[in-house]
Amino acid sequence: MNRQIGGSDETAQCRYCDGHVSDRFRAVFGDEDDVAHRCLGCDCFRRISRGSAAGVDVDLVDPAEDPNRNRGQRVGAALRADGGSL
Ligand SMILES: [Zn+2]
Repeated sequence: MNRQIGGSDETAQCRYCDGHVSDRFRAVFGDEDDVAHRCLGCDCFRRISRGSAAGVDVDLVDPAEDPNRNRGQRVGAALRADGGSL
């Protein structure tokens, strides 16, 4: 049987929300140690692409602070499971 891969590796988690982040995501968007400070579960792609996942303070509205603005594709995805009312 397969064991869970990377289950105890805390670097495979977003530092902000503890959501799982892939090796690929951390390599591309994480900091120099491949640590993801934000992920697509708690931040929008615009901010991540400007460095928020690498710990950079991005001058865009943080969806965690203002969830009605600047929503990422997956930010609050569970909250939109009601079919969406936009
Ligand atoms: Zn996150």
